[in-house]
Amino acid sequence: MNPELAVTELAEPYLRGLLTSAGLDVEYVRGEGNTLYRLDAKGQETPVLDYAGGYGSLIFGHNNPEIVARARELVDGGVPVHAQFSFHPYANRLAAELNRIIHRELGTDEPYYATFANSGAEAVEAAVKHAELDRVLRVSETLEELAAGVERARTAVDDGSATVPDAVYAQLATERPADDPLAPVIDEITRRNGERAAQAPVFLALEGGFHGKLMGSVQLTHNEAYRAPFAALGVRARFVPRGRPEALDEVLAQERGVLLGLTVEDGEVRVVEREHPVFCAFLLEPIQGEGGIQVLSDEDARIIQEFADATDCPLIIDEIQSGLGRTGTLLASSQTGLRGDYYTLAKSLGGGLAKASVMLVRQTRYRAQFELVHSSTFAKDAFSCYLALKVLEMLERDGGRAYRQATERGAALQATLEKVRTAFPDVAKDVRGRGLMLGFEFHDQSEAEHPAIREAAAGGLFGYVIAGHLLNRHSIRTFPTASAVNTLRFEPSVLLTDEEIGRLEEALTDVCVILREQAGERLVLS
Ligand code: PMP
Repeated sequence: MNPELAVTELAEPYLRGLLTSAGLDVEYVRGEGNTLYRLDAKGQETPVLDYAGGYGSLIFGHNNPEIVARARELVDGGVPVHAQFSFHPYANRLAAELNRIIHRELGTDEPYYATFANSGAEAVEAAVKHAELDRVLRVSETLEELAAGVERARTAVDDGSATVPDAVYAQLATERPADDPLAPVIDEITRRNGERAAQAPVFLALEGGFHGKLMGSVQLTHNEAYRAPFAALGVRARFVPRGRPEALDEVLAQERGVLLGLTVEDGEVRVVEREHPVFCAFLLEPIQGEGGIQVLSDEDARIIQEFADATDCPLIIDEIQSGLGRTGTLLASSQTGLRGDYYTLAKSLGGGLAKASVMLVRQTRYRAQFELVHSSTFAKDAFSCYLALKVLEMLERDGGRAYRQATERGAALQATLEKVRTAFPDVAKDVRGRGLMLGFEFHDQSEAEHPAIREAAAGGLFGYVIAGHLLNRHSIRTFPTASAVNTLRFEPSVLLTDEEIGRLEEALTDVCVILREQAGERLVLS
């Protein structure tokens, strides 16, 4: 082996450099609850209070003893982790348990079928693929139905029981021919339907939304830096702003179209129109995580739901970050009255140990053939399914104590963030979120007096520099949200204590004082 390779950084060295610049390139050697441990200069473990919470993947904390015990039991018992293409009763139980909880929260009994995957983005792509399969099949079903009508019109014209009125030619901008009166009509309908059906589907997503970084999902993620270089590889998305319902009307007016057919009425051939299902899906997060912890308002939720119902556009509700109890219910969206055709769950589903995600699709949209065209070597494995079952058991036990904890601990944390914001309105702009999914937004510092603060803000690194100070000065770990770097995220586990909240209050107060006093030299970045 080339000896230099042993010392060369090959695992994302550029990213490591960026982390180093803000003092964030720390190696953690152990995790427990809301605490990660790093080694100090003497090789001793030093605790760091973790508010990043695995980016929302640790609702029960790092290495939760009960989840670890279950994992041990599974491995020690020789659980067949990779037994693809066999009966997976544990996956079935997991799907059933998810259904039971979702039914309770949504007040429905319609089954949701589960497709398992490994990561959040993968679950999103599975949902998107399923929605497209369903859309394509709906287009062909409509075309078949229209073709049958055309066939009937052909028979009626041929046997003399129907005629073609001038209005039909006018409508299709064709002319009555000397011979076969239906030929140009059918040609034109076939041409227009062919063109329409070949159109690429339109995806709708919200401005600020984040749905992953794979080839398809990144095109549904609003952040241009992630999306733009790969535009040629992916799907066509239209991003709609929150709080501006008329934007949806505009999109509808621009995108909608019809498929044409023929019918015979009172001995005359007429053109009929069927709506072309151009919208593949509308993706949204009930609380945008990477977009800066933005809660979808009840009003926006209602408008989107009405639009989806009116246009038969499936709703994919991405609960990858907001779900699994974080906001006090399994689905954060169940509190806003939204009803998804699809749900995606990931992150905490694996209990912090397994990589697991799931896409759920309601029965009325479900296409069984999807099962034959979508799979992954690693998905639906026994280890992650059993751990996910454990997570659900822990959420549901004692009449849903963990949900109540998330709500109560979240409220306590939010009250503290609010207290700091109120004390520093010149520095802190907003506190947002619900349950244990909270954001603390700073005012823009790109015009700041202190050059270190100003330059960090101008370079888009402000939130990372603040995170660096929190880590190095206060042993608190958090990060800005991916697409709104002035907002720090707080997504700890339900185990959050008052003492831990108190430490954050002290640390955030220190940050606010530094910003108020423009004392950038006091920022500790290593
Ligand atoms: N959707 C949402 C709402 C997310 O927050 C994330 C991850 N931050 C994803 C999708 C992508 O998940 P993953 O990183 O597991 O691919």
